Amino acid sequence: MKNLDSYAVFGSPINHSQSPRIHKLFAEQTNQSLDYFAQEVTAEDFVTAATDFFARGGKGLNCTVPLKELAFQFADKTTPRAESAKAVNTLVKQKDGLILGDNTDGIGLANDLIFNHGIELNGKRVLILGAGGATRGILYPLLDQQPDCLVVANRTIEKALTLAYEFNHSFESSGYDDLENQQFDIIINATSASLTNELPPLPENLLAENGICYDLFYSDQPTAFVHWGNLQNARKSLDGLGMLVEQASEAFALWRGVRPDTKAVIDLLGGMRS
Ligand code: NDP
Repeated sequence: MKNLDSYAVFGSPINHSQSPRIHKLFAEQTNQSLDYFAQEVTAEDFVTAATDFFARGGKGLNCTVPLKELAFQFADKTTPRAESAKAVNTLVKQKDGLILGDNTDGIGLANDLIFNHGIELNGKRVLILGAGGATRGILYPLLDQQPDCLVVANRTIEKALTLAYEFNHSFESSGYDDLENQQFDIIINATSASLTNELPPLPENLLAENGICYDLFYSDQPTAFVHWGNLQNARKSLDGLGMLVEQASEAFALWRGVRPDTKAVIDLLGGMRS
């Protein structure tokens, strides 16, 4: 390992990860000297790879699909937001040698919606599609905004029901069929369907007039869900690039004690794909 403080993102697949580019831009912007690389790590190899990384002096890790639940188990201690998500996307080697696990996905989404796009959730009808790890991470930050109602719909209804139970029924859960004749102001796609250019089975008229669509997935091209939002005449139909940069900035602040300017990085990366 070089003399520079070393950070990395682990996941599988990892070859298209934007995280090394984002953290390099943050480091340049804040005059921090550090190394950040992406490493293909499967679930089977995670504990060995993470142990080795920290043993060799690594300062911090990001963990993405499919490692977030394993990173939660790996951490010596976890923040309350990681605890509620039962998933960790950021590991920090502390001065006392212990590994702290945090989840910055939820605050990343809330910051992107509220500060970058001026989208208020307070008093709105909000629908989250999907009940996987990402939904676990975003639920409390979204509930904190006090929407009028929050519904989680999932293909496997049992998973949505279990999630509602774990979160003390602070939101409603449903299958896709139950969404018939309902309308929402903000629809957030937290399924991984966009990975394969698919859409969950969404009924007609699900999006209220002037509604917002947000896909957690991001891509160089409009995702299937962003495209769907445009067809529904959404006021805005956004993908998860802003969330990615915002969650990275929270991780960077945890590691380096300095907060980068996310807008400059979002503008740069967004500009490169249009
Ligand atoms: P998980 O594997 O934990 O969960 C996947 C979810 O998607 C499940 O609810 C699953 O339903 C559902 N799903 C998958 N395919 C379909 C389909 N064809 N139709 C309907 N539902 C489907 O994934 P994560 O929660 O970790 O990630 C979800 C997405 O969020 C990914 O695309 C990921 O890239 C993105 N993400 C983006 C971030 C960012 O910073 N922009 C941060 C974190 C995540 P079922 O339970 O029925 O299988």
